[in-house]
Parts: sequence; structure tokens; C-alpha cells
Amino acid sequence: MSDYLTRLNTAQREAVEAIDGPVLVLAGAGTGKTRVLTTRFAHILLSRRAFPNQILAVTFTNKAAREMRERVAALLDQPAEGLWLGTFHALAARMLRRYAERVDRTANFSILDPDDQLRTLKQVMEAQRIDVKRFTPQSLMSVIQRWKDRGLLPDDVPAEQDQEFGIHAARSLYALYQDRLRALNAMDFGDLLLLSMDLLKRDPEVLAHYHRRFRYILVDEYQDTNLVQYYWLRLLAQAEKNICCVGDDDQSIYSWRGAEIENILRFEHDFPGAKIIRLEANYRSSAPILAAASGLIAHNEGRLGKTLYPGRADAAGEPVEVHGFWDSDEESRAVAQRIESLRQSGHRLAECAVLVRAGFQTRAFEERFIAIGVPYRIIGGLRFYERAEIRDAIAYLRVLVRPADDLAFERIINVPKRGLGDTALRTLHERARADQVPLFAAAQRIDADATLRGKAREGLRGLLAGFERWRSALPREGHVNSLAHLLDDSGYTAMWQEQKTPDAPGRLENLKELVRALADFDTIEGFLDHVSLVMDNDDAPDDDKVFLMTLHAAKGLEFDTVFLPGWEEGVFPNQRALDEGGTKSLEEERRLAYVGITRARHRAIISHCANRRIFANWQTSIPSRFIEELPAETITMTGSAALERSRPAQPVFHTARPVLALRPDDWSTAARPARATRIAVGSRVFHQKFGYGTVRDAEEDRLDIEFDQAGEKRVLDRFVEPV
Ligand code: ATP
Ligand code: MG
Repeated sequence: MSDYLTRLNTAQREAVEAIDGPVLVLAGAGTGKTRVLTTRFAHILLSRRAFPNQILAVTFTNKAAREMRERVAALLDQPAEGLWLGTFHALAARMLRRYAERVDRTANFSILDPDDQLRTLKQVMEAQRIDVKRFTPQSLMSVIQRWKDRGLLPDDVPAEQDQEFGIHAARSLYALYQDRLRALNAMDFGDLLLLSMDLLKRDPEVLAHYHRRFRYILVDEYQDTNLVQYYWLRLLAQAEKNICCVGDDDQSIYSWRGAEIENILRFEHDFPGAKIIRLEANYRSSAPILAAASGLIAHNEGRLGKTLYPGRADAAGEPVEVHGFWDSDEESRAVAQRIESLRQSGHRLAECAVLVRAGFQTRAFEERFIAIGVPYRIIGGLRFYERAEIRDAIAYLRVLVRPADDLAFERIINVPKRGLGDTALRTLHERARADQVPLFAAAQRIDADATLRGKAREGLRGLLAGFERWRSALPREGHVNSLAHLLDDSGYTAMWQEQKTPDAPGRLENLKELVRALADFDTIEGFLDHVSLVMDNDDAPDDDKVFLMTLHAAKGLEFDTVFLPGWEEGVFPNQRALDEGGTKSLEEERRLAYVGITRARHRAIISHCANRRIFANWQTSIPSRFIEELPAETITMTGSAALERSRPAQPVFHTARPVLALRPDDWSTAARPARATRIAVGSRVFHQKFGYGTVRDAEEDRLDIEFDQAGEKRVLDRFVEPV
């Protein structure tokens, strides 16, 4: 038997070797579903059933795609290139670029980010004289997205759903929005799947092309596909029916984004005779972690039901830890400290993950990691490329390579300020409409006709001349230097350099990082596509950094040590699930908790805070019900939850801070009461970067410190330690 097959158990091997015909692998976390899929990929190639580019493999995130590419390369012992392996969106975009003209676009169509989508929709609504204060673009957008997730083009939306928005025009606004996107040569995220599905459905030639191309289809995280993705797969798999989907109903966590767990049932129905394979041995987690996770998920009612047993020889292990803290500051200190001590004992940082329920939770950890010098990376996309300076720089790039990109041009026309305010912009828009040309072309005409006066005229002339220079320098300088040059030459870098705000240096760093990121791509176009699609920060894979991400982003991943902070009612399960009452949202929250715990190989460390600041207010929190639901024999507790369990008659933890005495030794430094926001004027402090200094003045949480070496600086009090 081939070497790679011996690394599988019997059920896994069966799933790999059942090459022809539909296969559905339904199995719990860590049972090797992804390993099955990767091995199957290699098996198809090694048994010469198909060439690499004849396999379509769908992963849920770019990170997962990268991992799968690496795993396949390792199995094949050579780099895996030219593969159709990626997220639904990336694969659909690739198809659409090839057949762009069949969906009324050109091959360089842009993919709008959420901001641009909203701005476009708002313009459409305003043109229809809709009161966008009463009916917000956001709420209409979510209706449209729901339709797109269900595979519905404007004409397909059933009439009775037209009122979803409270006014009758939702459907026609949707149609107008689609028209507008077409005119912009753009698509939004939902269109990638919707339009490619529709193309496959109505164009037999395209469908036949992909039927010939894709002999085998592999799908990971199948439980989180939505309807349009399902239809897309079904169309592609129709001919050969060689489709293998793997998933776990207990890890379905995207119903809020339209995922349909019913797709599992649909599969059995649409592919009669599908082979259903169950995997039951978990190879990832220690026995206590597995038992804790299984005990928790058993509280859900709507389950297909599965057995899971530890498959690892060394499965015995430490119990799951549950810690109570005074507030999130103390929690983040403790977590950072624990990570630091793990590092000192030889643990790799990249084997630690902090998984949060909501984005706002990352801030405390980020600040703490920065303060004590623990390198970390955020996975999940909503950071780097969403920052204003990055979006500005990318808009410049977009205009550079796609002069007709009106949204990008509008974004940067007066950034930095060059006298092109609202009036100038209106003139531009009028001209563009009258001449039926893009804004950039209208700007050129206005410049030629000298329509604008004074500062505006100069500003516009400078900008247009700039783009001409940058474009003509591009072939000579190469795209990476061009971007650096453009940012300086346009005055954009200077704009941030002149800003004395505390965040300005960071923004300049970000811009440098963007230039570095661009170097990974051969062309600006390739990079822009990537930016539209990224869901994770791109880091060199060998960088040793702690992972910080939401639970949603952690799906499919695994780490030696997993921190699960913020297990409090209202945070996790989140308030929305609690407000809704019913069990549906609550069960989804519980599945998310299950996903969280099952990411851990050796250590799962749950924590909760007694107090939490929600915007400006402090709120008393009670430990999450999920903590209560963990089987007692699988966990150890310190802090307020322990207090509650030992004194069940007590009401929730409202009192001062008796919990602090209960901490075990290795947490003791963290157990110090949270410092008051003010550090006294005159006291001595230590700062990671600037060293020792004396506080000269204090205002709210800002301190003016005279550092012994670095001189006078203003810093946030969180970043210094009293000495
Ligand atoms: P999830 O539901 O979280 O996506 P999964 O079912 O996809 O999990 P994998 O990530 O494929 O599980 O596997 C979990 C871990 O177990 C991985 O480290 C994998 O290498 C290992 N593993 C899988 N199968 C075996 C096996 N037969 N023998 C040893 N280790 C295995
Ligand atoms: Mg997996």
C-alpha cells in the first residue's frame, strides 16, 4: 500500500479510496476530515486519474487554502502549482475573469469592498429619492445579500419578498443596484458566486467547459456552504458526480451569513447513492479537552449525532482551565503573561492562539502584547486592509491601473487636500454624466477646458499630471517602486508625516507594509484581486507569532495552546443570541464554543471577567452558561466561577474582589488589582521602548514622561509600568 495511505485509519482510507461517485464525510472536530481531503487530492494525482488542474478544491479561508496547498505539496514531494484550490469566492472570481464578457463585464472588473458597496447602493437609493435616513442602505444591503446568498437575481426574487424592506421597492432597487455595478464594471462579493452560478446555469458552453475541466471536486467545511454555493457545486458536479464533501454539523457557525445546514440533507437527496462515511477517532485533542467539548455540545438539541473518541496514543492530558478575572485588562495581562512564560519554557508562539467572540475583544490583547513585546498576528481580515491609509493607498493603485474606477478616484481626489472639495466634485460628476465618461476622463476634459478656477484647477492639474507620470514610470520602475514613489510624490505620505496624532507613525508603518505586501505579487492587478479576497493577514509562515482571531476565523485550525477569553453572558453567548430568546441562536453560539475548544491539542484555557467596559460604561458580568455546561471532571477552576460553583446559593458575582486570593501561583502576577487610570505625577515608570522615566504631567490616561534616555514623550499609561 502506498505510504501516504498507511497514515490513515480504515474509515479515512475508505473515504480517500472511494474516488468515483459522490461521497459525504460527516464527522466531528479533529477526526481528520481535512486530512482525508488532502490525501484524496494527492491520491487522485498519484493514481493518475487527473492532472492537478483538473481538480477543484474548495476551502473556507485563504489560510486554509494555503495550508492545503502545502499539505498536498508535502504529500507529492513537489510544489503544487496551477491548482484550482481556494475559497469559493476566489475560484468564482477566476471563472468570471475568464468569461467576463458573458456577464457584461470586462476581464479587469473590480470587486467592491463593503464600503464601496454601500456607497454605490446609497447613490442608487438617493437617485430614487428614497429617504436614506429612514431606510438605510445598510439594511437594504443585508436584504440584497440574503437574496444573493440564496442564488436569487432581481427577477428571481418572489414578489411576496419584495416587502422585506418595509417598502415595496426593494426588488427594483436591487435591480438598479445591479445595473449600476454593471455600468461600473464592478461586482460585489455576493455577485462572485451569484453571477458565476447563473452563468453556469444558463450557458451550456461554459458549463461544458468546466465539466471537461473538473474531473474531481473536493469541498471542506461543507456544513457552512450557503445555497448559492451549493447550486454552484451541484452544477459543476452534475456530469461526473465525482464530488467529495466533508463537514461537521456541530461546527456550523455561519447561518447568519446564509449558510444552510440543510445542504447536508440536500446532498443525499441530489446525489442519490452517495457514500456516507463517518469518522470517529479524534487525533487532535487530549482526552479532557475532547470530553469537555463533547459534554458542552451535548446540550444542543438539533444534532445529527456522532460519537467521538480520543484517537491519539498520548491523549491523556491536562484538564481544561477556567479562570475568573476582575476585568478585561487583568485578563489580557494574565493571558499575555502566560504566553510569555510558555515561550520561556520553549513553547512556540505560533502554537498559541487567542480566540475571541467579537472583534472588540482583540484590542486589550493587542495593546498588552505590544506593551510586553509578544509578537502577534491578527487573522480575519478586518484589520490591515481595512485601515483608512491602506484603503487610500489601494485606491491610488486602482486608479493607476483602472482609470475608469470612479469609486477609487472619488476616494483619493482630495486626499491629501488639494482644493477639490464638494463643488469641484459636483462639477466633475456633472461632466461625467453629460459626456457619459468615467470621472477620470471627465477630469481630463475639465482640465483641458479650464472649467475650474484657482486652487481647484491647480489641484486637479497636479493630480492628473501625477497619474500620467506614475503610469508612464510603471514599466520602468516596476510596480513596487511605483507605489512607494506614488505615495511620496502625491503628497500622501507627507500628509501623515505632518499629522502629529499618536496614530500617524503607525499609519506610515502600515503604508510601508503595504509596499512590502505588493512585492509578493507579479502585477498590481493580481495584488488588487488578492486584497479584495483576503480574509487573513499575510505573514511569512515561519514567523513565530501568537495568533489572535475570532472564533469564526479559527475554524479548521489547530494549536497546542488555545486561550478562550471573555466567556461571559452577553459576550459569549453574545447579547443578540440572548435577546432573541429561542434556542436557535444560542445553539449556534454553543457550536462556536465547541469549535473554540476543539482547536486545542494540549491546553484549552477559558477565562471570564467580573467587570467589563462596554463603550464608556462598566458593567458587571456573569460567567457564561457554557462554563456551567462543561462536565466538572474535565476542568479546573480559579476565580469567580469557582467561587460560584462552591457556593451555589450565592447570587452572581457582584461583590468587590474576593476572587483575587484564589489564584494559583503562575497567575499571581496577573492577579494584581487593575491599576487606577492615573499614575501619580512625579512617580518613576518603565516603558518597553523608551526605558525609565519620571512622570511630569498626567491628563486622563495620557502621561507626559521625561525619559532618562529618550527625552520627553507623551504615552498612554497602559504602556508603562510603575517601578
Ligand atoms: P476540523 O473539524 O477541526 O476541521 P478535521 O476533521 O478536518 O478537523 P484534521 O485537521 O484533518 O481534522 O485533523 C486533525 C489532526 O489530526 C491533524 O493534526 C491531523 O494531522 C491529525 N490526524 C488526522 N488523521 C490522523 C491519523 N489517521 N493518524 C494520526 N493523526 C491524524
Ligand atoms: Mg478540517
